Amino acid sequence: MKTYDVAVAGGGLIGASIALELACAGLRVGVFDAQQPGREASWASAGMISPSPESAAMTSLLPMSLASVAIYPEFIRRVEELSGQTAGYRQDGGLDVLLTEEEMKDVPETLALHRACGLQAEVLDAEKAYELEPALTAEIRGAILRRDEASLDNRAFTGATLEAARRKGVEIYSNNGAKALWLEGPACKGLQLENDRVEARWTVIAAGCFSARIEGAAAYAPVVPAKGQMMALRCDGVRIAHDLWSNHMYLVPRNDGRIIAGATIEYEGFDRSMTAAGMKSILEGAISLVPALEKARVEETWAGLRPDSPDHLPILGPTDREGLLIATGHFRSGILLAPITAELIREWVTTQKVSVDWTPFHPMRFQEKRQTRTA
Ligand SMILES: Cc1cc2nc3c(=O)[nH]c(=O)nc-3n(C[C@H](O)[C@H](O)[C@H](O)COP(=O)(O)OP(=O)(O)OC[C@H]3O[C@@H](n4cnc5c(N)ncnc54)[C@H](O)[C@@H]3O)c2cc1C
Repeated sequence: MKTYDVAVAGGGLIGASIALELACAGLRVGVFDAQQPGREASWASAGMISPSPESAAMTSLLPMSLASVAIYPEFIRRVEELSGQTAGYRQDGGLDVLLTEEEMKDVPETLALHRACGLQAEVLDAEKAYELEPALTAEIRGAILRRDEASLDNRAFTGATLEAARRKGVEIYSNNGAKALWLEGPACKGLQLENDRVEARWTVIAAGCFSARIEGAAAYAPVVPAKGQMMALRCDGVRIAHDLWSNHMYLVPRNDGRIIAGATIEYEGFDRSMTAAGMKSILEGAISLVPALEKARVEETWAGLRPDSPDHLPILGPTDREGLLIATGHFRSGILLAPITAELIREWVTTQKVSVDWTPFHPMRFQEKRQTRTA
């Protein structure tokens, strides 16, 4: 039986980032994935690094989001240097495209929310928006420029993070996922894998939307899959520089000229099929933002499963089981939050203190609710 300082269940971007961070701190780390690592949500994502809260209800995520944005460039630099691979990082910002007078009415509220959060947000009239993005529809009323927003090629970056972790000595295993937590008395001693057991001082559950399927983990990580359908478009002569957002969808440019268009949010269990309705809504949204995309080639379609929690917030930190840590439930923000998630887990493992308050994301919060309800 192998023994590690830390055993990580799940080799998506969250598990890979945690493993890399811990290995850089000198710890012996094993990552165990049920299939080929890095092929689930972290592969399917749009790759946006967008700290803007989608609504006032999501502002509790902001300190973590801002902390992650602050350390992202250095995290990417380390991953690229160690792996010898590129992340496709773009720092061109995001543009909220306003298509109706109704949307224009919400501008003061949106601006106030952004400014209260310390985020940059600049209102542009239609003319200024065209100067920035000439391919936009003539229908626009205005736009909000968010300079804090960036993006990367999440497929390349997840692969590079796994490779960087490997080169720092992390042992990464495919097709040998966790069946159950290995529990003994009040402690978690490691993982029960498909074929054997691994012992670890610390065990981290980072298996994305599959985390609740690991026996013993569901009480701490009651995550469900939230399906997102996506498309990659390519159109000669059509280039966009910013991430473009409308009320209905987004378009994200890649360095190779593809434009990623997404995404639906559907609760259909673990189903990953593309549907006619999903594709229709994405394509209609894309063409209404950038009409020239009518002639785009659809290069690829895919669907991925976001790990969603009951309150749509991440599940992060220690549990009532000695040695057991959870790092999942990142829902629509797992790419954004990967560096800070890794940093906080490393801080906890090495010092039992964290530099950003993670109490809103505590893994015990769902159990407390359940106990209150049954009391
Ligand atoms: C369509 C779409 C668009 C998105 N866009 C964005 C975006 O623009 N910006 C952003 O920040 N976020 C975005 N997200 C969310 C983001 O992709 C996720 O939050 C993030 O990738 C979650 O990473 P993860 O490592 O937790 O999970 P995953 O990437 O799903 O990885 C989980 C891993 O665990 C493995 N596993 C499964 N079962 C077991 C087991 N029993 N034992 C061990 N391993 C197991 C899986 O094989 C997989 O490799 C998007 C997601 C989707 C689907």
